[in-house]
Amino acid sequence: MAAEERVQENDVVTIHYTLTVDDEIWDSTEGEFMEPIQFLIGQGLLIPGLEQALYGMKVGDRRHVHLGPELAYGEVDEESFATVRKKDMPQEVPLEEGVELEMSDDEGDVIIGRIAQVKGDKVLLDFNHPLAGKTLDFEIEVLDRRPATEEEITHGHVHADPEAHE
Ligand code: ZN
Repeated sequence: MAAEERVQENDVVTIHYTLTVDDEIWDSTEGEFMEPIQFLIGQGLLIPGLEQALYGMKVGDRRHVHLGPELAYGEVDEESFATVRKKDMPQEVPLEEGVELEMSDDEGDVIIGRIAQVKGDKVLLDFNHPLAGKTLDFEIEVLDRRPATEEEITHGHVHADPEAHE
């Protein structure tokens, strides 16, 4: 098997994947109406463990990848919680565990939080990534790979038509 047939840095890779978390399917490209995903590898666009697992695979290969938090979304950060008084919550937000809300941080960037707990007159908000602290199980299948063009590498993304200047 020639080395260039295997996934390497700066390849455009097309994969199907199914992500299972705590024995439940979290996300999958294989359902009805779903399309495989395509991305440029070696740019840090994927979580580190998934990108690492793809290196060396070839078209048609399937693989199970088991990733602890350190190779996925990191551990839960205790500093990414905030306690807010119920009366300071936006009125349209139902005060129930698991409800997601968008807020702005000090720089005006949108951050997504979730209600972790409602207790007395206070609400505990969690701004960690929903998969922080989780172990992830991916089933991946490589459908296609090709070397990225110089332009794609410069831009840091895949072009639908590699000949076009997107
Ligand atoms: Zn571009």
